[in-house]
Amino acid sequence: MGFKPGLDGCSQAGAERLLSRQIAACDSCERLVDFRATFKSPENRRAHVDDYWAKPVPGFGDASGPLLVIGLAPGAHGANRTGRPFTGDSAGNVLYGALYRHGFSDRPESTHPDDGLELKGVYITNAVKCVPPANRPNGGEKRACLDWLRMEAERLRGTHVVLAMGRDAFEAYLRLLKAEGIIERVGRYRFMHGRTYRFDRDSRILVASYHFSRYNMNTGRLTEPMVEGLFETVNRLLADPDRNRGISVLSRT
Ligand code: SF4
Repeated sequence: MGFKPGLDGCSQAGAERLLSRQIAACDSCERLVDFRATFKSPENRRAHVDDYWAKPVPGFGDASGPLLVIGLAPGAHGANRTGRPFTGDSAGNVLYGALYRHGFSDRPESTHPDDGLELKGVYITNAVKCVPPANRPNGGEKRACLDWLRMEAERLRGTHVVLAMGRDAFEAYLRLLKAEGIIERVGRYRFMHGRTYRFDRDSRILVASYHFSRYNMNTGRLTEPMVEGLFETVNRLLADPDRNRGISVLSRT
């Protein structure tokens, strides 16, 4: 794992910009550096891929908000193209549509970093910041990128609810909690869509969800009503973060 510098001495906004620049410059994972470069290479370039971001994608949104959304990794033709999480692909259409309907956004879609979208109360990032081949980062890559997720999460002092999209995001967040001494074993917590966890030594609530991927939506593993139920749960938790202490199932959406 490469050196990841600290942010001591910066203002909140300055620290946010600096962290985003540091993440975007990261080249710790050789396989992912090589893969993301293919989106820029002349031999692989198609007419519409000339302007791909093709770098690590930092988080985006309201850093003081109570909701943190964590996905797996940038979509090859979404965030890896636009440079903003879940922007420009089908998973993003589902996510940003739901965020708008539930009061976290000023518009129902996210198409481009310059589209003027403003998020309110939510910050969005990925467990792994670089696009992986076949959408599957390996164990070393997941471990290497955990430092960036930790640095992002540390900066989000207002987080009450963490929505983890997919098992990898769920386990990445649990690894952060283990590193902080909040939980003892990641394996104690079972990934199940709609299951909600509270922790004795931390006020943040973890909500597990299937990833909003095109595959999951097309196969019916995840449906629009399930997404609606998920965000209704999130908003209930944000309205009353002290309810249902301990491990519990709040909604089977
Ligand atoms: S996956 Fe994370 S740690 Fe690896 S190169 Fe990308 S930003 Fe760096």
